Amino acid sequence: MAYKSKDNESSDIFSLLLETSKKEKERKRAELLKPLGIKEFFVEGSIKIDFKTCRGVECKLCIDVCPTHALYWQLGKVEITEELCIYCGACVLACIVDDCIFITRKRPTGETERFSKPGEIPKLFNSINGRKRKERVWAIFPSAKSYLERYLPHFC
Ligand code: SF4
Ligand code: SF4
Repeated sequence: MAYKSKDNESSDIFSLLLETSKKEKERKRAELLKPLGIKEFFVEGSIKIDFKTCRGVECKLCIDVCPTHALYWQLGKVEITEELCIYCGACVLACIVDDCIFITRKRPTGETERFSKPGEIPKLFNSINGRKRKERVWAIFPSAKSYLERYLPHFC
């Protein structure tokens, strides 16, 4: 029989607990988001607000635009229900100051995106759209030769 040290046993229990709390978090999240009919695009993410930068009393715009009502106002500051956040970035786009709301999100492809300034969102969309356009072109013309074979006769 394989010997298991006390250290190994506790690390097994710790991983088990982590796994259980992760599953419980996912279950709670699915339960909360289901009635809203919102599709998730990211496998994981995080959001935090820098209260030193936030001008909450003057705007609360992030609260108004959040599609899942993950943000709310309590005791003079913006609070987050993380289970409801889908990391869409609408709050960052609406925020009146830079580096106030920080979002990190991971796509199913493994790509990680980080942003905290409204101006970073259009740039991110442009780079994603640019990549998709390239992928479509590469699917039709995998090489310069395939492009020339198709179009060269029209130029001659
Ligand atoms: S939009 Fe930005 S500055 Fe305004 S309350 Fe939300 S986090 Fe604070
Ligand atoms: S990222 Fe989207 S879902 Fe999350 S708090 Fe901001 S607006 Fe709401």
